[in-house]
Amino acid sequence: MTVSQQPHVAGTAGPPAAVPVPVTVARGDGIGPEIMDCTLRILDAAGARLNVEEIQIGEAVYARGHTAGIEPDAWESLRRTRVFLKAPVTTPQGGGFKSSNVTIRKSLGMFANVRPCVAYAPFVPTRHPGMDVVIVRENEEDLYAGIEHRQTDEVTQCLKLISRPGCERIVRYAFDYARRHGRSKVTCFTKDNIMKLTDGLFHRVFDTVAADYPDITAEQCIVDIGTARLADTPEDFDVIVTPNLYGDVLSDVAAQIAGSVGLGGSANIGEHAAMFEAIHGSAPPLAGRDVANPSGLLLGAVMMLVHIGQSDVAERVHNAWLTTLEAGITTADVATSGGSPVGTRAFGDAVIDRLGQRPATLPAVSYPAGQQPLTVPPAAAGPRQVKTMDGVDVFLHHRDRDPNALAAALSRASEGAWLQPRMITNRGVKVWPDGLPETFCTDHWRVRFQAPGSGVTRRSHVLDLLHRLDRAGLDFVKTEGLYSFDGEPGYSLGQGQ
Ligand code: NAD
Repeated sequence: MTVSQQPHVAGTAGPPAAVPVPVTVARGDGIGPEIMDCTLRILDAAGARLNVEEIQIGEAVYARGHTAGIEPDAWESLRRTRVFLKAPVTTPQGGGFKSSNVTIRKSLGMFANVRPCVAYAPFVPTRHPGMDVVIVRENEEDLYAGIEHRQTDEVTQCLKLISRPGCERIVRYAFDYARRHGRSKVTCFTKDNIMKLTDGLFHRVFDTVAADYPDITAEQCIVDIGTARLADTPEDFDVIVTPNLYGDVLSDVAAQIAGSVGLGGSANIGEHAAMFEAIHGSAPPLAGRDVANPSGLLLGAVMMLVHIGQSDVAERVHNAWLTTLEAGITTADVATSGGSPVGTRAFGDAVIDRLGQRPATLPAVSYPAGQQPLTVPPAAAGPRQVKTMDGVDVFLHHRDRDPNALAAALSRASEGAWLQPRMITNRGVKVWPDGLPETFCTDHWRVRFQAPGSGVTRRSHVLDLLHRLDRAGLDFVKTEGLYSFDGEPGYSLGQGQ
């Protein structure tokens, strides 16, 4: 494959139309090679001006001992071309391996994952013929930080990290996207009735940013009932912006109810690079059988063509694809009852045969020439506030299940110390003082230590406390400072009720 000397910069206009754009391509695992082959054949036939640079990621690379499924020279290619068309890869089960998808998205700062989920009724069976929803998923934070620990015999934990700059970026991107694409509403999905600090921050930032877009309706939904509403009446939604994990789940739900998870394309956008892929995974049981639907990856590639300034080719491919659906030609996953599905290769041939045609019933797409990619919002630093320490939560591995006995041991250990035990919880439920005997307790305890009255805590008080606990043989596995910012507590009250 040719390697161009003129790298394309993500987030800027593409090069002049005739200049081939260097693009990194990976064929992935499972059905990946088949759907990538089909996609590249269609792009080639449509006149896409690409210099394809292939890298290998996935199973074979994991097997060579690279724990993230990607090799150093692949990073060089990605950093050079800044545009990546990627087929799905299989993430090995078990510890010691990291998802190459998540690693690539996060390492190259692709903070926004854009997943349009559109119904193509009556040509693709769906209960929701009017559906046209775009999920904008935060791509770098949340539980996908991948910071997990086993702390006791019985308890593991995963840290959910949500940052103010991360929220601002993704929410602003969602509103900019809505404005650019003539959409009228952005709905924010969180679970801030339970996670008041993390999801609460996402919600508050959404409200603040929404005020800058008075032309767009802003709406909030709790993610559980919101997902139920999305599955029931998706036509009530337009653009949805949501933290990482909810976005992952929601976009599979949305793609599936639109017609098939095999139909959804996905763009991962960042300041330094952009990656285009299908929503779905590598579907190992379908691999090598010429039955997989190449449409998700093809629509991802259409988004890539728009991104690199080849909107003419994007339009030709997308309209040929719609015309193919209208002709009743589909793969098995979306076949109408009584229809006779075709294989991956034949579907690709059918799209190629229809290049230059426009759909008659489904709305034809039109991608304006010369449109700049959306500007990536800056990740601005947040305001500095006065931070004070109100105490510390100490997490213990303690096998005796009696909270009152633990409280007595803690009181003995901290006798005379500045910090005194105020409350014990087990999996977030208060068990001392005044716990209920019915509460099930594990071997993982959170003890809140605070000074008498409103005394200020210092790090030296925490160190003194930990020395005392250690001398008493109490196995602390983690501490969390209790901080207030400008006088407002930055920690949950921990009653668990
Ligand atoms: P999957 O998306 O591969 O499959 C889910 C279901 O959808 C299966 O029934 C499958 O047959 C069907 N399906 C998926 N794509 C299809 C297509 N193009 N045509 C027809 N049917 C299709 O999800 P999974 O089984 O949970 O995951 C399999 C592997 O893929 C796992 O290792 C997972 O980690 C990986 N994965 C990768 C990505 C990615 O590379 N972006 C995304 C999700 C999952």
